[in-house]
Amino acid sequence: MKKRIKRILLYFGLGIFLLLAWIGYNTSHVWRDYLGGPPVRFLENREIAVGLYPRGAPVAAILTNDDFSAASDLEPVENLRRLLEELEVRATFFVIPNHLGRYPLTAGSEAVEMLEKLRRDGHEIAQHGYAHFSEKNRGSSVRMGAEMHFLSEEEQYRIIRKGREILTGLGFPPQGHRSPCFSGNRRTFRALDRLGFLYGSDLDLPPTTPETLLLPAYRRRLMYPYRPDGLDLIQVTSQTDPTVRRRKALKVFHRYRDRGGVFAFLTHLPQIGEPRNLRRLERFVNHLREEGAWFCTMAELAEWWTAREAADFRTEPEGETLVIHCDNSTPYPLRDLEIVIRDPGPRRYRLLDRSGEVLGEGEIPESRSLLVDI
Ligand SMILES: [Zn+2]
Repeated sequence: MKKRIKRILLYFGLGIFLLLAWIGYNTSHVWRDYLGGPPVRFLENREIAVGLYPRGAPVAAILTNDDFSAASDLEPVENLRRLLEELEVRATFFVIPNHLGRYPLTAGSEAVEMLEKLRRDGHEIAQHGYAHFSEKNRGSSVRMGAEMHFLSEEEQYRIIRKGREILTGLGFPPQGHRSPCFSGNRRTFRALDRLGFLYGSDLDLPPTTPETLLLPAYRRRLMYPYRPDGLDLIQVTSQTDPTVRRRKALKVFHRYRDRGGVFAFLTHLPQIGEPRNLRRLERFVNHLREEGAWFCTMAELAEWWTAREAADFRTEPEGETLVIHCDNSTPYPLRDLEIVIRDPGPRRYRLLDRSGEVLGEGEIPESRSLLVDI
């Protein structure tokens, strides 16, 4: 009898162990980020520490806006544009190329004039699906707007390409894509990668699958951009709308700031154009600024991150001089990258690029901090 109980306990323990190992394995890239910090090749060694973002900013912030289309009321857009101009913040607008399949953006229209105005202000125009609507969702519990939900990879490839052709034809070739109602999935990633998109930006990814069922908040914990399934495509997950859920947005932002994450947050048209929401947005942006966030567009972030994750550094003391070899092997420059010299020994520095060319040299300033372009 005793033996039987012992055996049952043993199997039970083994079962629990295997379950935990399974969860650990499937969520590895989340806890790896928490334990190991940002997944970049070089962060620091004994002599130097290299900033994650320009000018050593502790966190990146991206203001995103969804749902601009040919059917949009332009007044709220103009209200938002004016506020952003005042705040000197550049945002990323995810635009619907052919809303409901009935409202294509067309050359010379007022909507396209507005897009041109936004771009002149420095904002990024990116793609938001094709029609923000799918007939396949009818009769299911999935929202009609969740365009990608039931579509195969080929179907997604075709409609995303069609949407991109519209935007490109109007002079706005998109580098990034966000799925309507965050209906993106692994098939979307592969379609975007095949189409050569630089980045995808979704909220609920990776989706809750049987593998992640036991950690429902799992997907919200991805604080660094990642490349799903070994693709070239970079994914930047996005967070809640601070004009709707300010406290939650702030809480998440602080968590990201403490670990040097990328905080992309949502706003939607037309609601964001209401005076009350504009005031909330202003307050939120100012708060992030006070905490030293680097505001950028998502394409800028995707380029920066691509270069930053691969950049490598090597230090070599040479008498009183610290020689720093900087290697950025990507086509994207790292401007205003901060290098902090931790070693109190050397008085001078010399920076070399990957071909051995001198990027800069001189006395190490009292702040021990250098800003370089590599
Ligand atoms: Zn949308």
